[in-house]
Amino acid sequence: MRLLLVLAVVLFGIWLWRSNREVKAALKEEKPPPAQSPLDMVSCTLCSVHVAVDDAVQGRKGPYCCADHRQRAEP
Ligand SMILES: [Zn+2]
Repeated sequence: MRLLLVLAVVLFGIWLWRSNREVKAALKEEKPPPAQSPLDMVSCTLCSVHVAVDDAVQGRKGPYCCADHRQRAEP
């Protein structure tokens, strides 16, 4: 009878450990992946080519894909 009680406690412990692990796994899955901010794009005022904001050349009339197009559009 005593052995049965020990077995029950051990089984309960295993069940508790497993259910705890499942909760942790579920929490891990719900966590969203690290958000990568989408690159902001702008279109060249002269040729309409899309370039990243960081690579765009700012002119008086708007962003350009390169300095050459800025010079051509804004002489
Ligand atoms: Zn351009």
